[in-house]
Amino acid sequence: MALIKCSECGKEISDKAESCPNCGYVLPKETFWGDMKSLPGKRCPRCKSTNISMSGNRTKTTMNLNPLKPFTLVNHKPTKQIWTCMSCGKTWMEKM
Ligand SMILES: [Zn+2]
Ligand SMILES: [Zn+2]
Repeated sequence: MALIKCSECGKEISDKAESCPNCGYVLPKETFWGDMKSLPGKRCPRCKSTNISMSGNRTKTTMNLNPLKPFTLVNHKPTKQIWTCMSCGKTWMEKM
């Protein structure tokens, strides 16, 4: 078990915790594309509403300049999800 710092209040908390016991911030979990429809514990970090939606994601584009592999020319790799709370309007990003 490792201790990580809450990104809201800075308090050290267990990385196994679902949310910060100090401020209630819900810890972002490592997620995969296949898991994205089933996130029962995901809530707005401000108002704790579960009425949130993913409004998009940041993608990192890397050019593969290796002439031996022309078919892997561009690699779109999503790096961050952008979430919006429907209740309070907060938007935030989570690393993928
Ligand atoms: Zn906290
Ligand atoms: Zn909210």
